Amino acid sequence: MSDELTHIQEAIQACQRCALAGFPIQGPPIFSGPADARLMVIGQAPGRVEVNATHKPFSGSAGKRLFRWFKQAGWEETDFRARFYMTSVTKCFPGPNKSGRGDRAPTRREQALCEEWLLAELTLVAPEVVVPVGKLAIERFFGRGRRLAEIIGGRYQIDGRIVIPLPHPSGASVWIQKRAHQALIHRALGHLAAVRRELGL
Ligand code: SF4
Repeated sequence: MSDELTHIQEAIQACQRCALAGFPIQGPPIFSGPADARLMVIGQAPGRVEVNATHKPFSGSAGKRLFRWFKQAGWEETDFRARFYMTSVTKCFPGPNKSGRGDRAPTRREQALCEEWLLAELTLVAPEVVVPVGKLAIERFFGRGRRLAEIIGGRYQIDGRIVIPLPHPSGASVWIQKRAHQALIHRALGHLAAVRRELGL
Protein backbone atom coordinates (compact mmCIF):
# COMPACT_ATOMS: atom_id res chain seq x y z
CA MET A 1 0.00 0.00 0.00
CA SER A 2 2.84 2.35 0.80
CA ASP A 3 4.23 2.16 -2.78
CA GLU A 4 0.76 2.76 -4.19
CA LEU A 5 0.30 5.75 -1.90
CA THR A 6 3.67 7.16 -2.96
CA HIS A 7 2.58 6.77 -6.59
CA ILE A 8 -0.69 8.62 -5.89
CA GLN A 9 1.14 11.35 -3.96
CA GLU A 10 3.45 11.90 -6.93
CA ALA A 11 0.39 12.22 -9.18
CA ILE A 12 -1.16 14.72 -6.75
CA GLN A 13 2.05 16.77 -6.69
CA ALA A 14 1.97 16.95 -10.50
CA CYS A 15 -1.77 17.71 -10.67
CA GLN A 16 -2.82 20.76 -12.71
CA ARG A 17 -6.55 20.04 -12.99
CA CYS A 18 -7.85 23.17 -11.27
CA ALA A 19 -5.38 25.49 -12.96
CA LEU A 20 -6.29 24.00 -16.35
CA ALA A 21 -9.98 24.50 -15.52
CA GLY A 22 -9.28 28.19 -14.87
CA PHE A 23 -9.40 28.30 -11.08
CA PRO A 24 -6.95 30.70 -9.35
CA ILE A 25 -5.38 28.05 -7.14
CA GLN A 26 -1.81 27.97 -5.93
CA GLY A 27 0.24 24.85 -5.22
CA PRO A 28 2.01 22.86 -4.14
CA PRO A 29 -0.69 20.43 -3.00
CA ILE A 30 -0.40 19.93 0.75
CA PHE A 31 -0.76 16.68 2.74
CA SER A 32 1.39 14.73 5.20
CA GLY A 33 1.62 11.59 7.28
CA PRO A 34 2.55 7.92 7.10
CA ALA A 35 0.87 5.33 4.86
CA ASP A 36 -0.17 3.24 7.86
CA ALA A 37 -1.79 6.10 9.80
CA ARG A 38 -4.73 4.92 11.91
CA LEU A 39 -6.32 8.37 11.98
CA MET A 40 -6.83 10.84 9.13
CA VAL A 41 -7.67 14.54 9.42
CA ILE A 42 -9.41 16.03 6.36
CA GLY A 43 -9.57 19.80 6.17
CA GLN A 44 -11.09 22.11 3.55
CA ALA A 45 -7.98 23.31 1.68
CA PRO A 46 -4.54 24.60 2.68
CA GLY A 47 -3.94 28.29 3.30
CA ARG A 48 -1.27 30.72 2.20
CA VAL A 49 1.15 29.82 5.00
CA GLU A 50 1.03 26.13 4.15
CA VAL A 51 1.74 26.55 0.42
CA ASN A 52 4.20 29.46 0.67
CA ALA A 53 6.19 28.59 3.75
CA THR A 54 5.72 25.44 5.80
CA HIS A 55 4.34 22.85 3.32
CA LYS A 56 2.69 21.22 6.35
CA PRO A 57 -1.11 20.94 6.74
CA PHE A 58 -2.69 23.12 9.39
CA SER A 59 0.46 25.08 10.18
CA GLY A 60 -1.06 28.58 10.10
CA SER A 61 -3.14 30.29 12.78
CA ALA A 62 -6.13 27.95 12.27
CA GLY A 63 -3.77 25.03 12.77
CA LYS A 64 -2.65 26.43 16.11
CA ARG A 65 -6.23 26.28 17.36
CA LEU A 66 -6.72 22.80 15.87
CA PHE A 67 -3.66 21.48 17.72
CA ARG A 68 -4.86 23.12 20.94
CA TRP A 69 -8.04 21.08 20.48
CA PHE A 70 -6.07 17.89 19.79
CA LYS A 71 -4.01 18.57 22.91
CA GLN A 72 -7.24 18.63 24.90
CA ALA A 73 -7.96 15.19 23.44
CA GLY A 74 -4.52 13.98 24.61
CA TRP A 75 -2.18 14.41 21.61
CA GLU A 76 0.94 16.57 21.29
CA GLU A 77 1.38 18.20 17.88
CA THR A 78 4.75 16.63 16.98
CA ASP A 79 3.57 13.15 17.84
CA PHE A 80 0.24 13.70 16.07
CA ARG A 81 1.91 14.89 12.87
CA ALA A 82 4.35 11.95 12.90
CA ARG A 83 1.68 9.28 13.36
CA PHE A 84 -1.43 10.53 11.58
CA TYR A 85 -2.32 11.52 8.02
CA MET A 86 -3.45 15.07 7.31
CA THR A 87 -5.01 16.11 4.03
CA SER A 88 -7.93 18.11 2.66
CA VAL A 89 -10.90 18.10 0.29
CA THR A 90 -8.89 20.20 -2.17
CA LYS A 91 -5.15 20.23 -1.79
CA CYS A 92 -4.05 23.55 -3.31
CA PHE A 93 -4.50 27.05 -1.84
CA PRO A 94 -7.75 28.49 -3.30
CA GLY A 95 -6.67 32.12 -2.77
CA PRO A 96 -8.25 34.77 -0.54
CA ASN A 97 -11.96 35.31 -0.17
CA LYS A 98 -13.24 38.33 -2.12
CA SER A 99 -14.54 39.82 1.12
CA GLY A 100 -10.97 39.83 2.40
CA ARG A 101 -12.00 37.71 5.39
CA GLY A 102 -10.44 34.26 5.26
CA ASP A 103 -9.74 32.10 2.21
CA ARG A 104 -12.00 31.42 -0.79
CA ALA A 105 -14.01 28.23 -0.35
CA PRO A 106 -13.21 25.79 -3.18
CA THR A 107 -16.12 25.45 -5.62
CA ARG A 108 -18.02 22.21 -6.11
CA ARG A 109 -16.17 21.75 -9.40
CA GLU A 110 -12.79 21.99 -7.65
CA GLN A 111 -13.99 19.59 -4.97
CA ALA A 112 -15.06 17.15 -7.69
CA LEU A 113 -11.73 17.51 -9.50
CA CYS A 114 -9.83 16.68 -6.29
CA GLU A 115 -12.16 13.92 -5.06
CA GLU A 116 -10.22 11.16 -6.84
CA TRP A 117 -7.14 12.02 -4.78
CA LEU A 118 -8.99 12.08 -1.47
CA LEU A 119 -10.70 8.79 -2.25
CA ALA A 120 -7.33 7.22 -3.09
CA GLU A 121 -5.83 8.49 0.18
CA LEU A 122 -8.76 7.11 2.17
CA THR A 123 -8.56 3.76 0.37
CA LEU A 124 -4.80 3.31 0.59
CA VAL A 125 -4.20 4.68 4.09
CA ALA A 126 -7.42 3.02 5.33
CA PRO A 127 -7.63 4.90 8.63
CA GLU A 128 -9.81 3.56 11.43
CA VAL A 129 -10.74 7.08 12.48
CA VAL A 130 -11.50 10.08 10.27
CA VAL A 131 -11.75 13.66 11.55
CA PRO A 132 -13.37 15.91 8.94
CA VAL A 133 -12.57 19.52 9.84
CA GLY A 134 -14.90 22.24 8.58
CA LYS A 135 -18.08 22.38 6.52
CA LEU A 136 -16.74 21.10 3.19
CA ALA A 137 -15.04 18.09 4.69
CA ILE A 138 -18.10 17.35 6.82
CA GLU A 139 -20.35 17.56 3.74
CA ARG A 140 -18.08 15.00 2.05
CA PHE A 141 -19.27 12.46 4.66
CA PHE A 142 -22.71 13.71 5.73
CA GLY A 143 -24.09 15.28 2.56
CA ARG A 144 -25.12 18.89 1.94
CA GLY A 145 -27.82 20.88 3.64
CA ARG A 146 -27.39 19.87 7.27
CA ARG A 147 -26.50 22.37 9.97
CA LEU A 148 -23.09 21.96 11.60
CA ALA A 149 -24.75 22.12 15.00
CA GLU A 150 -26.67 18.93 14.15
CA ILE A 151 -23.45 17.08 13.39
CA ILE A 152 -20.60 18.44 15.53
CA GLY A 153 -20.42 16.75 18.92
CA GLY A 154 -21.33 13.31 17.59
CA ARG A 155 -19.41 10.10 17.00
CA TYR A 156 -20.44 8.26 13.86
CA GLN A 157 -19.75 5.00 12.02
CA ILE A 158 -19.49 5.60 8.26
CA ASP A 159 -18.21 3.02 5.74
CA GLY A 160 -16.68 0.99 8.56
CA ARG A 161 -14.80 3.95 10.07
CA ILE A 162 -15.29 6.04 13.17
CA VAL A 163 -15.97 9.63 12.08
CA ILE A 164 -15.68 12.52 14.55
CA PRO A 165 -16.24 15.91 12.87
CA LEU A 166 -14.83 19.22 14.07
CA PRO A 167 -15.66 22.75 12.87
CA HIS A 168 -13.11 24.80 10.96
CA PRO A 169 -10.73 26.29 13.54
CA SER A 170 -10.17 29.51 11.58
CA GLY A 171 -10.18 32.77 13.54
CA ALA A 172 -12.52 34.06 10.79
CA SER A 173 -15.19 31.56 11.90
CA VAL A 174 -18.05 33.09 13.88
CA TRP A 175 -19.49 29.62 14.48
CA ILE A 176 -16.80 28.50 16.91
CA GLN A 177 -17.17 31.66 19.05
CA LYS A 178 -20.72 30.86 20.18
CA ARG A 179 -21.02 29.38 23.66
CA ALA A 180 -23.48 26.65 22.56
CA HIS A 181 -21.11 25.62 19.77
CA GLN A 182 -18.13 25.55 22.13
CA ALA A 183 -20.03 22.94 24.15
CA LEU A 184 -20.40 20.85 20.97
CA ILE A 185 -16.66 21.16 20.25
CA HIS A 186 -15.94 20.10 23.83
CA ARG A 187 -18.14 17.04 23.31
CA ALA A 188 -16.37 16.18 20.04
CA LEU A 189 -12.97 16.44 21.77
CA GLY A 190 -14.32 14.11 24.46
CA HIS A 191 -15.15 11.56 21.72
CA LEU A 192 -11.63 11.91 20.31
CA ALA A 193 -10.10 11.38 23.76
CA ALA A 194 -12.28 8.29 24.24
CA VAL A 195 -11.29 6.88 20.83
CA ARG A 196 -7.62 7.56 21.61
CA ARG A 197 -7.92 5.46 24.77
CA GLU A 198 -10.12 2.72 23.23
CA LEU A 199 -7.93 2.16 20.18
CA GLY A 200 -4.59 3.01 21.80
CA LEU A 201 -3.98 5.84 19.33
S1 SF4 B 1 -6.78 21.22 -5.72
FE1 SF4 B 1 -6.59 19.02 -6.17
S2 SF4 B 1 -7.47 18.70 -8.22
FE2 SF4 B 1 -7.07 20.91 -7.96
S3 SF4 B 1 -5.01 21.21 -8.86
FE3 SF4 B 1 -4.74 20.91 -6.63
S4 SF4 B 1 -4.39 18.69 -6.38
FE4 SF4 B 1 -5.25 19.01 -8.45
